[in-house]
Amino acid sequence: MNVFEEIFVPINILKKTIKKIREFGDVSTEGFALWVASQHLNKYQVIDVWIPIQENTFISYYIPETEVHRINVELNKKRIVPIAQLHSHPRSAYHSCIDDDFSILHLPYSYSIVIPNYGDIEMSNIFDEFVVYQLIDNIWKERSKEQVKKVFKLLK
Ligand SMILES: [Zn+2]
Repeated sequence: MNVFEEIFVPINILKKTIKKIREFGDVSTEGFALWVASQHLNKYQVIDVWIPIQENTFISYYIPETEVHRINVELNKKRIVPIAQLHSHPRSAYHSCIDDDFSILHLPYSYSIVIPNYGDIEMSNIFDEFVVYQLIDNIWKERSKEQVKKVFKLLK
C-alpha cells in the first residue's frame, strides 16, 4: 500500500455508515465500521461499508480475532483494500491508547476515523465532524482538516 492521494466516498455509503453507527448509539454503545475500497493507481474508491461482528460497550468496542481473520480472507478473495476503520465515541472524538492498541488495520497509511456523539452529527460538513488519523511509521497521527479535505472526496 502507498500514500492515498485521493479517496472517493460515495454519499450513499457515507449515509449507510452513519446510519449503522447511530444504531449502536441508540443503545448507548460505540460502534465500529470498515470502509473497503478498490484501487486504481493512487486513487481509491470506497465500494462498501462492512460492519464486523463486535462486542460493544458505552466506551469501547472489540472485534474478535476470528472475525478479523474472516475479514482478511474476504479482502484477499475480493482483492479490495481496507482503506479506513471508523468508530464512534459518546462525546468528543480522539484516538485513545486503546484505539491505538486494538486497531484492526496495520497497513502503513491506513486511516482511522473517530466519529463524535455516537454519530449524532451534522451531515452537511461531515468531514469537519470526523477526527481522522493515519498510520504513519506505526503511529496513528491526527491529520489536519486541510489534509483530510485534500484526500477524502465525497461522490454525490
Ligand atoms: Zn475510541
